[in-house]
Amino acid sequence: MIGITVLGSTGSIGISTLDVLSRYPREYRVVALTANCDAQRLFEQCQQFRPDFAVLVDEQAGFKFASLLKNSDLRTELLVGAEYLEQVAALDSTDYVMAAIVGAAGLLPTLAAARAGKRILLANKESLVMSGKLLLDEVKAHGAELLPIDSEHNAIFQCMPQHFAEGLEKGGVSKILLTASGGPFRTLPLDQLGQVTPEQACDHPNWDMGRKISVDSATMMNKGLEVIEACWLFNTHTDMVQVVLHPQSVIHSMVQYVDGSVLAQLGNPDMRTPIAHALAWPQRIQSGVEALDIFAVARLDFEVPDFKRFPCLRLAYESMESGGTAPTVLNAANEIAVASFLNNELSFMKIAEIIEATLNAVESVKAASLDVILEADRVAREQALAFIQSAINE
Ligand code: NAD
Ligand code: MG
Repeated sequence: MIGITVLGSTGSIGISTLDVLSRYPREYRVVALTANCDAQRLFEQCQQFRPDFAVLVDEQAGFKFASLLKNSDLRTELLVGAEYLEQVAALDSTDYVMAAIVGAAGLLPTLAAARAGKRILLANKESLVMSGKLLLDEVKAHGAELLPIDSEHNAIFQCMPQHFAEGLEKGGVSKILLTASGGPFRTLPLDQLGQVTPEQACDHPNWDMGRKISVDSATMMNKGLEVIEACWLFNTHTDMVQVVLHPQSVIHSMVQYVDGSVLAQLGNPDMRTPIAHALAWPQRIQSGVEALDIFAVARLDFEVPDFKRFPCLRLAYESMESGGTAPTVLNAANEIAVASFLNNELSFMKIAEIIEATLNAVESVKAASLDVILEADRVAREQALAFIQSAINE
């Protein structure tokens, strides 16, 4: 049986992962589940999957879980504190680690999984954006395996698995076409973007996701982070990655080859497909996702993204091109600005402004070590918060 740790099991990706795993009780054993603060849901998941360990980061949530545990017959051991995320990512009894924590909080546990030589199912794109080279070096040094869960990168992987490791040019790839829905504001008149609410931003037309990534989709920072993610995963540069607006979200990305071929991966927009793909790779298993009804889809549209409407996309390209800790700063400033928007403190349009100001204020240095990266992350957060404070006081 394959042992699996699900980091961020109470989130959107975590829940989809457990849905797939529930179909294969004889093939996969859940070893550990983790959450930030949703004790109730984590406890219910533990009742269903009976893992050895449950980790909660939040102390109050830990107390709640402990009292639920006391009144049950569950044998799961509760661990409270962020440091245990790394521990359960590196357990001997775990073979696969689903990295589905949102944001920079996912970095250290993902690195721990790499150092322990696990198969990492990577949903937490922020860890690659923050520390691409470092993470890939650890994967290589410890014989770990990194399989993309992000639907676009999983699609690209499916369109060229044999060339994945060698680099694109060797495999005859001329371009990666990274598709994007354009989010809920793709066609909203520009002068109305300033007034949109967190609820509107989180109401994605095609995907049901966590709140942070939903806002990232509305600003298209999500696609920007994915451009960076693609550069690291497929060992290439930004010139090779073209973002394509595709409002139906049926094609999850495409790979163009030098001979004129374009390979695409299609499917209903449901994360259980890439999750099942990475779990079973190189085999295939059923995911619970309905077969794509190509006649119901009927048409597929493509547009060039507008950097004026989506300045976050431009900022992401620029930060990857400037290199060093710039993507770390971009990611940190984005996390702070999005949290502030979700808290109704900052307007939607200001998100990109805060990120750009932070990128200009925090000097990018060579991302030479984990300490350098964590320091860049800390400084960028502080700087972004200061810019937000002055925007609020304006
Ligand atoms: P979510 O907000 O629904 O869930 C996040 C999970 O992380 C929860 O289990 C939460 O408890 C945990 N968490 C949050 N903060 C934490 C912290 N500080 N320490 C430890 N755990 C913490 O998010 P999601 O939509 O499931 O996204 C998870 C990751 O997957 C993100 O990196 C996102 O970009 C990526 N992703 C998501 C989707 C999607 O469809 N939801 C698609 C592609 C990629
Ligand atoms: Mg994606």
